Amino acid sequence: MSEDSTLITGPLYAARKKVYPQATHGTYRKIKWGLLIFCLAVYYLLPFVRWDRGPGLPNQAVLVDLPHRRFYFFFIQLWPQEVYFFTGLLVLAALTLFLMNALAGRIWCGYLCWQTVWTDLFYAVERWVEGDRRDRIMKDKKGWTFQHIREVGLKHFLWLMIAWWTGGVGSVFRRRANAGAPARDLPGAVLRLPLDRHSHGHDIHFRRPYARAGVLYMCPWPRIQAALTDEWALNVTYKVDRGEPRMSVKKSEAAHLKGLAAGDCIDCNQCVAVCPTGTDIRKGLQLGCVQCGLCIDACDNVMKEIGRPTRLIGYDTDINMARRREGKPPVYRFIRARTILYAAVMAIVGSVMLYALLNRTTALIAAQHNRNPLFVTLSDGHVRNDMTVHLSNKGGTPRTFALTVLGLDQARLSAVGVEPAADGRLLVEVEPDRVRDLRVSITAPGGAAKTDNTPITVVATDVANGEVLKVSEHFFAPK
Ligand code: SF4
Repeated sequence: MSEDSTLITGPLYAARKKVYPQATHGTYRKIKWGLLIFCLAVYYLLPFVRWDRGPGLPNQAVLVDLPHRRFYFFFIQLWPQEVYFFTGLLVLAALTLFLMNALAGRIWCGYLCWQTVWTDLFYAVERWVEGDRRDRIMKDKKGWTFQHIREVGLKHFLWLMIAWWTGGVGSVFRRRANAGAPARDLPGAVLRLPLDRHSHGHDIHFRRPYARAGVLYMCPWPRIQAALTDEWALNVTYKVDRGEPRMSVKKSEAAHLKGLAAGDCIDCNQCVAVCPTGTDIRKGLQLGCVQCGLCIDACDNVMKEIGRPTRLIGYDTDINMARRREGKPPVYRFIRARTILYAAVMAIVGSVMLYALLNRTTALIAAQHNRNPLFVTLSDGHVRNDMTVHLSNKGGTPRTFALTVLGLDQARLSAVGVEPAADGRLLVEVEPDRVRDLRVSITAPGGAAKTDNTPITVVATDVANGEVLKVSEHFFAPK
């Protein structure tokens, strides 16, 4: 390797540093509690919501049914052929993140990311069991006393129980071949130990939530977000122009008396103490800052106590930081090229998805021509092509389709196991929520096909409502 090689020789990530986040109160803490309760309520309660889809179909409102390859979301039922809806949803989710980022930084990371939500819950449990920051630091300094061991053991037990319940609920959202017990059995499954990940029909992944919320501290998103933010985006910011030079209340009073400059920051470190990642926001925008706003609350509380204006730390833009230094008033520009672009693409993707959803058919047809042989010449001179036709009924009631073929004069259709009706039509019944695979033969007189490869259309018409399904195919014949 040459000396000027760009090979990274240092560590790829920062070593774990134990943080002791302190409890705080204020506007952002209230917002975070509200969102935490809302997100956890949606996650934990959704599997218990029922939705009647008719006989033979699952009545769980939200369910990924892996054995039957279906996704149920209240009145929507998606089939594997409709995977583009998921693609659309992923695109929308990514654009929403980009838009959030362009408007107000890491809203997702600070308030809604599931790792943030569960970590917040785990910290609350930690504080409840071991006490607030000062108590925890003291106990760690004292070492492993009996009380400390008991408390740490209890904390990890409670974390494991939350992770167990979280993993259990996650498993109820999807049904597997060896699982799929109804959601109402979950409380029983959770109570029945030992901790077996395939316990009682529920494939419970409890290690992941425990590790993510209780142990892990890394995330790749900050690096992406650093590339997405710009000088107009609101970010949690320490207002340097107002805070510096930082000094104690006493020293700042003395400085003022002498006519010297003194900032509003009293260097109390409260903003660092409450930070869940131990970031010092006064050092500027950093990858470690999830922008949860708790430092804003902590600093506001300090400012109120010492009788100074709040929002020394607050949501602000780089542009306004520069303008304040120049003595200019702040300006905010939420409507700009990148936010318009994100919103426009979101509107287009959302409209396309909505249109596709409202106009999706409740039945599908697909055909697969036999390759070997492509055609058979019968002893009477007729030519026969064989293919498999798949008819899907996505509805909740049985449906009957009349099969016909277009594009080839005098062509006759037959299907294995289907007798023609009295009027000569080939009627095929498909059970609700099922796919019927038919071995279909199309036979035509020798000279009917003008070329050796004639485009044809296989048509299935619902005899009850007239809905027409079409699939293009080819009729092969000797040259
Ligand atoms: S909480 Fe406010 S006053 Fe205290 S160190 Fe942080 S920025 Fe300075």
